[in-house]
Amino acid sequence: MRAEDVKRVAVVGAGTMGNGIAHVFAQNGYEVTLIDVEPGFLDRALNTIQKNLNRQLKKETISEEEMQATLGRIATATELETASEADLVIEAVTENPEVKFDLYRRLDKIVPPEVVIGSNTSSISITEIAAQTGRADKITGIHFMNPVPMMKLVEIIRGLATSDETRDLAVETAKRLGKTPVEVNDYPGFVSNRVLMPMINEAIYCVMEGVAEPEAVDTVMKRGMNHPMGPLALGDLIGLDT
Ligand code: NAD
Repeated sequence: MRAEDVKRVAVVGAGTMGNGIAHVFAQNGYEVTLIDVEPGFLDRALNTIQKNLNRQLKKETISEEEMQATLGRIATATELETASEADLVIEAVTENPEVKFDLYRRLDKIVPPEVVIGSNTSSISITEIAAQTGRADKITGIHFMNPVPMMKLVEIIRGLATSDETRDLAVETAKRLGKTPVEVNDYPGFVSNRVLMPMINEAIYCVMEGVAEPEAVDTVMKRGMNHPMGPLALGDLIGLDT
């Protein structure tokens, strides 16, 4: 499958990342099915998408017609079987290896064998995820940043078995969403979290050891290093549990 042939996308997992991923695909003309385990989670995701589209409308980055068309391209489902109609699947379920591995074994049976499945995982090995399926060459990392509609970066992670064709499809699809794809290999934390997490940890140690107050740590990084947000505030935004 080539990127230009992808028209329908299934996004599995409608949490923080899944709703943003569905939003950007729909805004760029793809037909999206957003899948989660409970109708309540899907309602919450649609509310968030509506709220974020309203914000874009207020800022005049989209028109009323674009907003309505975007919403009109998003369907929701609680049955994983609906993913069988997709040309591309993006997985954004809970960051837990057992949850993901079980899901990939099920998806592999449901989704046609030529279809690529991209994982939004932040830290689980793409090679290990791919090994749950009979299509390891068609599994790639496609790591969007939070909040998805705002952030340009998409890390494209190549597992040991990911094919050139799959890599090309992921890179080209990210470009079609107006994002900046960056290719990285399958190492823990990839590049983004490998570099970011030690910084956030170190900021926490600064507070713990009494080097400075939290506000001071964040101000040093904002005013001194030109970071738009301090590492402690960023840790809160990501969520310390995450
Ligand atoms: P989240 O907890 O907000 O959402 C996960 C969703 O997956 C939940 O709604 C849950 O009900 C659903 N889910 C769980 N099992 C499912 C299944 N079998 N089928 C369908 N849906 C299922 O999590 P999140 O923050 O959106 O993270 C999702 C993925 O994105 C994770 O792999 C995470 O590492 C990655 N990620 C998160 C961030 C972030 O800042 N939150 C950033 C980049 C990447």
